[in-house]
Amino acid sequence: MLVHVDMVGVDNHFRLNFVQVGTVELDDSVARGEWDFKPILPMFRMHGLTVGIVGCGRIGSRVGRAAVGLGINPIYEFGSDEQKERWLPQMARGEVLGCFGLTEPDFGSNPGGMRTKAVRTDNGWVLNGEKLWCTNGTIADLMVVMARTSDKRITAFIVETDSPGVEVVHRCHLMGLHGIENALIRFTDVRVPEDNVILGPGRGFEISQGRLGPGRVHHCMRAIGMAELCLELMVARSRERKAFGRHLYQHGPIAEWIARSRIEIEQARLLVLKTAALIDNGGAQAARKEISMIKVIAAGLLTEVADRAIQVFGAMGLSPDTPLADLYTAGRALRFADGPDEVHLQTIARLEARDQQDRLMAVMRYLEPVDSEPQGRGG
Ligand SMILES: Cc1cc2nc3c(=O)[nH]c(=O)nc-3n(C[C@H](O)[C@H](O)[C@H](O)COP(=O)(O)OP(=O)(O)OC[C@H]3O[C@@H](n4cnc5c(N)ncnc54)[C@H](O)[C@@H]3O)c2cc1C
Repeated sequence: MLVHVDMVGVDNHFRLNFVQVGTVELDDSVARGEWDFKPILPMFRMHGLTVGIVGCGRIGSRVGRAAVGLGINPIYEFGSDEQKERWLPQMARGEVLGCFGLTEPDFGSNPGGMRTKAVRTDNGWVLNGEKLWCTNGTIADLMVVMARTSDKRITAFIVETDSPGVEVVHRCHLMGLHGIENALIRFTDVRVPEDNVILGPGRGFEISQGRLGPGRVHHCMRAIGMAELCLELMVARSRERKAFGRHLYQHGPIAEWIARSRIEIEQARLLVLKTAALIDNGGAQAARKEISMIKVIAAGLLTEVADRAIQVFGAMGLSPDTPLADLYTAGRALRFADGPDEVHLQTIARLEARDQQDRLMAVMRYLEPVDSEPQGRGG
């Protein structure tokens, strides 16, 4: 199993920091969740082309703490053989860093508002527009960019960031996310070869949906890893610190926070693993409702457990002497990243209504009132 460990979770100042450290080969004990990542608190990117999402999920929740191999998934899942051969080995070795451009200054949740356009020419495409909040944006070597190619169609392009006309307009700063290299990127008459179209013109929505499934599982696994770290810190502090003659964990409210955190982390982990297994077996489309469910649960879980841990630490919880404030912010950011809670809740409700409708059809004949004057014998 090949795992790209590209992030070390906490720097000397206890700030979450994302540092590329290289690709490592790990044995099956990782997939079984037996490998102890704690000493280095690493972040990781998954490039193990032989490893399913479940394996990755287990690693993710252990390792916890950062961004995945952005840009890899669309190429791995949807790219041509030539695109895979050209980019994936370099990305796996960490020599090429990717990023993904969907969001724009004028639209976020609703891709219908996309303004970035690509126009076909004799020998490829010309791209114009802007992409906002691109994670890895200032340091990426290639971008997977979504652009409008007709009124109703979106196309995914692989854009090399050293192409003429690609400009990092500015680095975006996000509260508490110190290590993340997030950028606004502008494209002015950028020439993109035909070979860099992923899956084919007009098929961008399929790719962004396919990408977001596994991507969200990664996000959720990292959130669970971070929540686990918050709980570890909460317990450690409450065992050391005394107030009013008792250890903090012996006080009722704090005991309840510890217990609830453990319960909620386990609940979330199981739902994430179920979702990962559904994706592994049936693809992201088969797990659409569960993907939205875990996205809402994991982001909320992290903010809730981090908030409890901050409360247990008292003022120190807000200081840079612990990573808790940053962990809280990471959860808060996740309530937007890859879709705000409200959009996911809407998706869950829509799919639930559809599922209930299907179920209702199946049981309807058993729910009809029985005829009060039965026909048949003697009738
Ligand atoms: C840490 C981080 C990393 C990111 N990385 C990337 C990246 O690499 N590439 C990229 O393309 N984007 C990235 N994003 C952008 C992210 O995908 C967007 O923030 C997200 O899609 C929401 O868009 P928006 O921020 O424009 O909010 P908007 O779409 O303007 O929504 C604002 C609010 O409106 C409400 N709302 C919207 N729609 C509905 C609805 N249907 N029902 C009810 N309420 C609704 C919600 O409360 C929502 O929070 C990143 C964001 C963050 C925070």
